[in-house]
Amino acid sequence: METACCDLHTHTTASDGSYSPQELVKMAAAAGLKAIAVTDHDTMQGISEAMEAGKEYGVEVIAGMELSVLYRQGDMHILGYYISPSPLLTEVLQEVQQARARRNPLILEKLAYLGCKINMDELADMAQGGQIGRPHIAQAMVNHGFVSDTRTAFAMYLKKGGPAYAPKSILSPKRAIEAIHSAGGLAVLAHPFSLHCNHQAALEEIVAELKTWGIDGMECYYSEHDPSFTEMCLRVADRYDLVATGGSDFHGRPKPNIQLGKGKGNLCVPYECVILLRDRLQK
Ligand code: AMP
Ligand code: ZN
Ligand code: FE
Ligand code: FE
Repeated sequence: METACCDLHTHTTASDGSYSPQELVKMAAAAGLKAIAVTDHDTMQGISEAMEAGKEYGVEVIAGMELSVLYRQGDMHILGYYISPSPLLTEVLQEVQQARARRNPLILEKLAYLGCKINMDELADMAQGGQIGRPHIAQAMVNHGFVSDTRTAFAMYLKKGGPAYAPKSILSPKRAIEAIHSAGGLAVLAHPFSLHCNHQAALEEIVAELKTWGIDGMECYYSEHDPSFTEMCLRVADRYDLVATGGSDFHGRPKPNIQLGKGKGNLCVPYECVILLRDRLQK
């Protein structure tokens, strides 16, 4: 029997993905995935549509979200699974969404100074009511002929420390984890490769701190993780009693090299991850 796969990290038009929640779930069914989690940036807007589609297409859909937090002056992402809105989570999401709304004009101001004039209305049209993020700005820069592709937009202007970068998050990991727990969910450290830990000890130091705040899991299987990095994550997860999860971080058009469920081609997040998450939730 073939192993059942799932994908616990996906984006839709509710944030910076290019497919609607319904389209995403339909694609998951076509890809033979047993379960998916919809994890849009800083919003749960796409969840109910995805849940409905899950029933229609026979895919288990997990209500999720990806929160951006500020950690040691850098970016960190924390995934929430099995969440249903709580007063604290609602408050946190409002704060983060307001921080985004303040940040986008700052980025546009910097770009205008650098010679690329984009207005907020264009971005709002692109996002169609979803969360506006840097990928939308990158696409607008391409549309204006300022850069040839979105990769260049990030590499030359929008990446952290780039001339048009502005920080977004004001949320601490501790508060993010608390908010996820208050919503009845589990908090999972997203894509540890982005923390630039070259050694297991460096990753362990971060994980140990997150553990004191109640982190429940770590995303070990991920499109950008090579087998040795995945192995390292699995060892650390085991050592700190974290649920090992995984996902592709599928966005559709903004990340054309990442396929739903398959990542760069050979990813299969074992469905067992879902069972382990559910077990942890029972505890
Ligand atoms: P934001 O939430 O607005 O900060 O945008 C974050 C999103 O931008 C990520 O989920 C990625 O899709 C994308 N992104 C971040 N850094 C890069 C990069 N260096 N190259 C391409 N896309 C990136
Ligand atoms: Zn994204
Ligand atoms: Fe992320
Ligand atoms: Fe993501």
